[in-house]
Amino acid sequence: MKFEISDEMLRKIEEWDSCIPIDVTGAKYAYTFIPTGIGLVVNVRCDVCNRVLGLSDDF
Ligand SMILES: [Zn+2]
Repeated sequence: MKFEISDEMLRKIEEWDSCIPIDVTGAKYAYTFIPTGIGLVVNVRCDVCNRVLGLSDDF
């Protein structure tokens, strides 16, 4: 099982959140990878607005 963000996931994340990063590096997302019985779940938290988006790897 690979722990990485696919282009499809990145697109969903960008649709979901359009905050301007406050970090000078441009980083604003914290990723949490959770292997479950039905596949990998990825929680993405925006450091700017503190919302959490749940994604699974089976689009
Ligand atoms: Zn945000």
